[in-house]
Amino acid sequence: MGDPAEFATGLVVRPASVEEVSAVARLATKHRATLWPISQGRNNGYGGRSPRTAGSVVVDLSRMDRVLEIDGVSGTVLVEPGVRFADLHAAVRESGVPFWTSTPDLSWGSVIGNALERGLGYTAYGDHHAQVCGLEVVLPDGEVVRTGMGAMEGGRAWQLYRPGFGPAVDGLFFQSNLGIVTKMGLWLMPAPEAWAAVDIAVEGFDDLAPLIDAMRPLKLDGTIQSTVVIGDPLGAAAFTGPRSDWQEDRGMLAPGVHERIMERFGVGRWNMTFALYDHAEMIEARIGVVERAFAGIPGCRVAVTRYAGDASADEIAYGHRVRAGIPDMYAEKLSFWFGGRGGHVSFAPVLSLDGSEALAQVAKIRDRFEAAGFDYCGAFTAAGRSLVHVTEVLYDRDDTEQVARARALVRSLIEEGAKEGYGEYRGHLAFMDDIARSFDWNDGALGRLHARLKDALDPAGILAPGKQGVWPAARRL
Ligand code: ADP
Repeated sequence: MGDPAEFATGLVVRPASVEEVSAVARLATKHRATLWPISQGRNNGYGGRSPRTAGSVVVDLSRMDRVLEIDGVSGTVLVEPGVRFADLHAAVRESGVPFWTSTPDLSWGSVIGNALERGLGYTAYGDHHAQVCGLEVVLPDGEVVRTGMGAMEGGRAWQLYRPGFGPAVDGLFFQSNLGIVTKMGLWLMPAPEAWAAVDIAVEGFDDLAPLIDAMRPLKLDGTIQSTVVIGDPLGAAAFTGPRSDWQEDRGMLAPGVHERIMERFGVGRWNMTFALYDHAEMIEARIGVVERAFAGIPGCRVAVTRYAGDASADEIAYGHRVRAGIPDMYAEKLSFWFGGRGGHVSFAPVLSLDGSEALAQVAKIRDRFEAAGFDYCGAFTAAGRSLVHVTEVLYDRDDTEQVARARALVRSLIEEGAKEGYGEYRGHLAFMDDIARSFDWNDGALGRLHARLKDALDPAGILAPGKQGVWPAARRL
């Protein structure tokens, strides 16, 4: 976002094998060229395919696009970086194994790229990075390593047992500039016999709090297995069409627009979606527990749609398909809310599964958006024991004044959030230093550890300098 020169690509190389990736790393080390690996380069909202450091050589891994293994007994796959969610879904379905894949909102992205950045999908296995089991990584000096049980010659449990023997290092390569991942193992979700999509709407802004509080125990005890999403009406509208459908001028949305959106789409002021999966005998019990939990919220509407585990895409309502891991591109319109060469950038702090905390945060962030001249647009996701509050600043890339305002807003949200103890789970290139600085416990001890690891593994400082705010020694301030 902003000045295109800031994140300009120098040139692009497209290796076709791990040997070629290793050769690229060795060459870069020799010539002190900086590399920026991408898998499909669909990291929209976070910088897309652009490098953090202008002039870097983008290492485009999309030609390495094989699904190397599908294990129909243990439910695992081994993939290369160029494999997209749609490709993996098709390959697993064609193989006939009784397992499901998971997909994020846009299925054109790389399975590896998304998991490495800790992206989300919407099934019970939607926490993508948590399903990873075994990596193959090219280190900055060109050495190729396999983690976990893959470190054995002929190891038979690479995709089955994560830790291996000794210190586990897999985590070093997520949101990282310590290696280029060339293979990844993943666990698949056993195909359920039956499943149900649950859509819950509440009418009042403050109903967000009881909605979250009713969900929390069910998420913690595993009754709700999928990722939970709680969205506001603006998101619902932005996924379906441009802002001009609602208001011509670019000022703040007029009073009443939210209500019109709610009416047209039949959605509430907050809309919670999730799914339940089980054996045929047990799914009704799960549904019953969910209905009971939300019955106490006045005006709350709970809609349950039942599906057979083997229902085809055509038999599943459009908005429910991602909850069965069926790939789609429905979210693409979000970028074009303002028209022009649209754009969006997020501020996504992590907080607890607590209703009053979420409500207090949403009110504060909404005020900050409005003070900067933007309408609040946000959603909460819960994949594990926390909420991620994904707020989206929607803008038009051709409107320089608006872009500058969006950038200033996100920077201030990061600063203000940090003062309140909230850190982000992921960030755009333009804000990586700001976010890294906000992890400042013990005078930034974690950042210093990251720097020591960087210096040890990449002394020449060739790999993705500045990614996640981690810079090689020569470029550190
Ligand atoms: P997607 O296509 O899923 O959106 P990208 O290819 O854009 O994912 O990758 C997102 C980010 O993840 C990249 O900008 C890069 O920093 C990192 N990344 C992607 N693939 C790799 C990889 N194979 N090894 C190391 N880092 C990677």
